[in-house]
Amino acid sequence: SPTVSDIMGTVIAVQANFYQVRLDEPLKDHNNAPIYHLLCTRRTRLKKIGQMVMVGDRIIIEEPDYQDARGAIAQVLPRKTELSRPPVANAEQMLLVFALDEPPLEPWQLSRFLVKAESTDIPCLLCLNKADLLTSTQQKTWQERLEKWGYNPLFISVMTSQGLTDLKDRLKDKITILAGPSGVGKSSLINTLIPDVKQRVNSVSGKLQKGRHTTRHVELFELPDGGLLADTPGFNQPHLDCSPSQLIHYFPEAKQQLKQGNCQFSDCFHRGEPNCVIDNNWERYEHYLTFLEEAITQKEATQQMA
Ligand code: GDP
Repeated sequence: SPTVSDIMGTVIAVQANFYQVRLDEPLKDHNNAPIYHLLCTRRTRLKKIGQMVMVGDRIIIEEPDYQDARGAIAQVLPRKTELSRPPVANAEQMLLVFALDEPPLEPWQLSRFLVKAESTDIPCLLCLNKADLLTSTQQKTWQERLEKWGYNPLFISVMTSQGLTDLKDRLKDKITILAGPSGVGKSSLINTLIPDVKQRVNSVSGKLQKGRHTTRHVELFELPDGGLLADTPGFNQPHLDCSPSQLIHYFPEAKQQLKQGNCQFSDCFHRGEPNCVIDNNWERYEHYLTFLEEAITQKEATQQMA
C-alpha cells in the first residue's frame, strides 16, 4: 500500500510502452516550476508479472527525472472497475449524451445505448442535450417518460449553457466515460467543458509521437475543476453483446418487478412462460423482446463458431 512519500498519479494516455501520467501533486523542476505530468515507462518487474497498465490506472512512480519529466511505473493499485471496450480502468460513471432534437430523440436507439451502458455495471448518467430546441412542456413529457424507464435525465444545452453547472458538479473528481451517437453534441460539450482541449491533446499526444485518431486509442481529458473524461468513438448502433439471461437486469424498470420474487423457471426469458414475475405492462417491454431475440441470435452465432 502507498506511503506518504510515494509519488502517485493517474495514467491518462498510453502509447506502445509509454504512459502519460497526471500527478496527484505537482512536482517542482529545477526552476521551481510545477510539473503536472510525467512520461513513464513500466518497471521490468511489472512486465515480468504481466501487469498491464491501462488508461485510468492509479499508479506509483519511482525515479522521477525532474529535468526531462520522466519516470518509471513501479506499482499499479488494484482497479475499482475495468472496461475492455474502451479499455479504461477505474471509470466511475458513464455519461450518455443524446439530443432532444436535431436529430430527434429516438426511443429505440436510446434504449439500446442504455442497455449497453447498464451491461457495464458502471452507473450511467443520462444527459439530454439541445434542450434549447424544445419547450419546457416538451421537456417535461420526456422527463416523465424516462422516469418510468427508471432514469432521471439531466437536461442540458451546450448552446445556452442550461444545466452545465449541474453537469460539471456531477463530473468533478471522477473518471467518466462519454458515450452517445454522433451529432448529439459530444464534441461541442468537450470543447465547452475543456476550453483548451486542442492544446492539451497536442501536448499529450505530441509527447507520445502520435495523433489521437487510431481506433483503439483512448485518452482521458482533464477537466479544469478536477476529474477525467474519456471520449469514445461515436457510433449509432452499439452491439448489445450480452447474454440473453442477463438482459432483463439491464432494464431498471423491470428490476423492480424481479425484486418481488422468482420466476418458476430459473432460465425464464420473461416472454409469457408460466408463473413469470415480469408482466408486459411497461413501455420498453417490446424493446426487451426485440433485444432478447438479438442476444439469442448472437449467442447461437458465437456457439457455432466455437
Ligand atoms: P458529436 O457528433 O456528438 O460530437 O456532435 P457535435 O458536437 O459535432 O454537434 C453536432 C451539431 O449539433 C453541431 O452543429 C453543433 O453546433 C450542434 N449543437 C451542439 N450542442 C447544441 C445545443 O445545445 N443546441 C443546439 N441547438 N445545437 C447544438
